[in-house]
Parts: sequence; structure tokens; C-alpha cells
Amino acid sequence: MSKYDVAVIGSGPGGYVAAIRCAQLGMKTAIIEKYNTLGGTCLNVGCIPSKALLDSSHHYEEAIHHFEAHGIEIPGEVKLNFKKMIERKAAVVDQTTKGIDFLMNKNKIDVFTGMGSFKDATHITIDGEKKQTIEATNTIIATGSKPASLPFIELDKDRIITSTEALSLKEIPKHMIVIGGGVIGLELGQVYRRLGAEVSVVEYMDRIIPTMDSAQSKELTKVMKKQGVKFYVSHKVSAVAKKGKEVTVTATDKKDKEVTFTGDYCLVSVGRRAYTDGLKAENAGVKITERGQVDVNEHLQTNVKNIYAIGDVVRGAMLAHKASEEGSLVAEIIAGQKPHIDYNLIPGVVYTWPEVASVGKTEEQLKEAKVEYKSGQFPMRALGRSRASGDTDGFIKILSDKKTDEVLGVHMVGARAADLIAEAVVAMEFRASAEDIARMSHAHPTYAEAVKEAALAATDDRALHI
Ligand code: FAD
Ligand code: NAD
Repeated sequence: MSKYDVAVIGSGPGGYVAAIRCAQLGMKTAIIEKYNTLGGTCLNVGCIPSKALLDSSHHYEEAIHHFEAHGIEIPGEVKLNFKKMIERKAAVVDQTTKGIDFLMNKNKIDVFTGMGSFKDATHITIDGEKKQTIEATNTIIATGSKPASLPFIELDKDRIITSTEALSLKEIPKHMIVIGGGVIGLELGQVYRRLGAEVSVVEYMDRIIPTMDSAQSKELTKVMKKQGVKFYVSHKVSAVAKKGKEVTVTATDKKDKEVTFTGDYCLVSVGRRAYTDGLKAENAGVKITERGQVDVNEHLQTNVKNIYAIGDVVRGAMLAHKASEEGSLVAEIIAGQKPHIDYNLIPGVVYTWPEVASVGKTEEQLKEAKVEYKSGQFPMRALGRSRASGDTDGFIKILSDKKTDEVLGVHMVGARAADLIAEAVVAMEFRASAEDIARMSHAHPTYAEAVKEAALAATDDRALHI
């Protein structure tokens, strides 16, 4: 029987990063993945394919609506080859997952293909082409998550679909009804709106992206409405029915009035649930919470001391970079180091265009915690860079402590916000004040100048260009 210092179950951004870090630290490492390709949700049916479709559909939208303003005229009609767009996405996924094979090989990590389950706390059975058992001194559970649904919804995966099917449709929907105005609903809703579908987003809360700063919800609603997406907030979905090619979604609005939506596709994007099916955690004595997550302490250790868990299968944000940070952290803990993650500084991004990005506390959270703060905001339209590219929607807002000026939260909507947020994360990791950022030189002309301007506004209301 093969024996390992560490076995990692699941090869998503949590699992494969944990495996690489373990190997780097000199541990004999195995990774077990039930699918034939490595990379988990993120690489196969999540981050990467959704960004590929967002990018392709963005180019299409630019060609149809924005090229002319730049003096680029396309004789005849701009044609969409949706099949090719989907094939390109598949090729991007293929290249990316093959990259993980390369990394496993390079780091001498043994890859086992098959469903991994605990025989006991130190033995894992792999049910693949053949059944085999390996012994592992330590195990890292990185089994990720699956789409959640509502109890009354029957996902037929044909017309009533999750993000997985929405990434590989064979046709562009005429009317896509999106249940849930969170990250997936908005990203994929925007893809299909750009490609010509009517898109209606039905959201239970009183605003879309309800966990982000309310100013971001407001701005993104405004911009996406301009793009033609219809929003129905404060609507509680009560039924979803399919008849032939038609899907009907029934909801009640905040006045308790019943509203029905009829379309040809319904995307259910109401969150994801931790996935431990088939893991047989009970054989190792690993505790699972009432919410179905693997229960861990602050060191991501389960109640069984040689078994750890990371990523979407444990508490916290379901984000690829959070899973990866946890992967590295656990590897280092097993190696006897003392690493640390500041969960407050894990950025959140929505890859719509304009992009939405956040780190730290929102205004709503600061108010609730009764923290006295200052707010500085700068509109993207006041930047020369934004006017040059034509990306004038959005703003950057910096919240800082009223007394100390320490940056407490940064929230942005705008072109390349996903990349700009990294500056805010660095500043906050080093506990910078708004004035520290305001005094740093930012290249001109860049979108990043809005970070400096918002910091100037937060320092003492002295933004230069508004
Ligand atoms: P996963 O990536 O889910 O990987 C778990 C792996 O474990 C899977 O491959 C699974 O097959 C395997 N597995 C499970 N059980 C077993 C078993 N018993 N034996 C063997 N293998 C097993 N996050 C971002 O940060 N940015 C984004 O832009 C982004 N976009 C997304 C878009 C979509 C459409 C979706 C659905 C998600 C997106 N996410 C994004 C979230 C991101 O994909 C997840 O947070 C991330 O994949 C979690 O990583 P993980 O390693 O914990 O689990
Ligand atoms: P989400 O939690 O982002 O959004 C779900 C939305 O559905 C919420 O706004 C919620 O209020 C709403 N909702 C819940 N029940 C409802 C109901 N009965 N009727 C109407 N609306 C309802 O979840 P998601 O968009 O499904 O994404 C799942 C996970 O994947 C998220 O945790 C997210 O972090 C991750 N993800 C991240 C990215 C990214 O980082 N860019 C992209 C996609 C997915």
C-alpha cells in the first residue's frame, strides 16, 4: 500500500495549491480527484469558463455598440458564432486544466483519479478504474461545493439550469429568468444579455449583490439596467414550472402580489452548498456541521487532529483565492510553521463590466458596528483614462477611521476594478492610512488615479479633479 505524508482530496484551487505547497515543503503528497480533469469547479465550470464567456461577449458588445464611436465601421452586420464562442471557452478550460497536470508532475505529486472516501482516519479508498487504498499521515479535505437550489425547484439541467449548464448552452436563450441577483446571476446574466437574450433577474433581497456595499449595488443596477437587464428585487420565488420549452417562475413581490415570469430558460443561482457526498467522513470521525460544511477550528483542523479541510467545503467566502490561501496555510501548519490569513482582507469581485470589487468593511457594516469613519469617493468619469477608453461608469470609495485615518474598506465599480482592488489589499495589509495612499504617486493616465483621488477625498476632502 502506498504511504503519503499528505493526501489531498479534491483538486480545485484549494486542493491543488495545498498539494503544491506540501510538495514544496518536502512532504510526499498525493491528490485525489473524482473527475478526469484537475482544477475543480473553478477551472472546469466556474471562474475560468465564466470569464472566457464574459470576455468573448464583451468583445461582441463592443463591436456592436461601441466601435462606431471610435471611428471603426464594420461593413455589414456583426455576426455571432455562438458555437465557436463556446468552443473557445472549452479550449481555454482545457489549456488551464492541463497546466495543473504539468504542475502536479513538476512537483512530483501522485495523482489518483477516482472518488476518494475515508476508510478510517489514516486510510483513503479511491474508487476509480480500479479500487485502491492509500495510507496518509495527514489528509486535507478540499471537496468544494455544488450549486444550491430551492426545495420546490426541480433542476432538469435542460431548461431549469445551474451555472454549469449555463456555461455550455447550445443556443442563446430568448428570455433567461435568473433567480438570484448574486455573483453568478449577474455575471452570466450579463453574458446572455450581451448576446441578445432578454434577461430578468429575480432577487429575494431589496438589492442585488446584497452583501457588498449598497453604493455598489445601486451603481451596478443603474449600469446593467442601461444595458437592458430587468431587475425584480424584493421578490420571493415560490414556484418554477416547465412545460415543453417554456419555463414559468412565480414570485411574490413586497406587497404580497403574485408575479409570473415566462421564458425559455431559468438559471438558478441562489448560492452553493458544501459538498461532502460520498466522502464517508463518518468513517474517520470527522464532524460535519448542520449546514453540511466540514467543521474546522481557526487552524482549519477538524475534530480529528490529522485531518484538515479548506475552501468551499468549510465556512467563509466561497472564493477561489480564499481556498488557495487556505491550502497554503494548512500545508505550512502541517510543516510546523505559523501562517496567518486575515479573512477581512480577502477581496470580493464581480466580473461584470464595469467590474465590482471590494475589500474590508462596507459602510453598512461600519454603521452597525458603530465605528466612526470618513468616506472619500471619486467618480470614474472624472478620469482622463476613463474618457479615453469610454469606460466612464463607476466610482471608487475609501472608508477610513475617523480618528486614525486607517483604511477600513475600499469599494469600487469601474473598468479593471478587479485588478485595482489589489492596491487596496496591499495598503490594508500594511495598515495604511488614507493619507498614505493619497501621498503615493500613481501613474497618469490610469484608472488607479481614482484610488489616489478617493484617498485624497477621504483624507480631508481634497480630491484634485472634482
Ligand atoms: P472546488 O473547486 O469545488 O474543487 C473541489 C474538487 O473536489 C472538485 O474537482 C470535485 O470533483 C472534487 N471532489 C469532491 N469530492 C471528492 C471526493 N470524494 N473524491 C475525489 N474528488 C472529490 N471564485 C472566484 O474567486 N473568482 C471567480 O471569478 C469565480 N467564478 C465562479 C464562477 C462560477 C460559475 C462558479 C460556480 C464559481 C465561481 N467561483 C469563483 C467560486 C470558485 O469556483 C470556488 O470558490 C472554488 O472553486 C473553490 O475551490 P475548492 O478547491 O474549495 O473546491
Ligand atoms: P450568491 O450568494 O452570490 O448569490 C445568491 C443570490 O440569490 C443572493 O443575492 C440571494 O439573496 C439570492 N437568493 C437566495 N434565495 C433566493 C430566492 N429564494 N429567491 C430569489 N433570490 C434568492 O450565490 P451565487 O451567485 O449562486 O454564487 C455562488 C458562490 O459562487 C458565491 O458564494 C460566490 O462567491 C461564488 N462565485 C464567485 C464569483 C466571483 O468571485 N466573481 C463568481 C461566481 C460565483
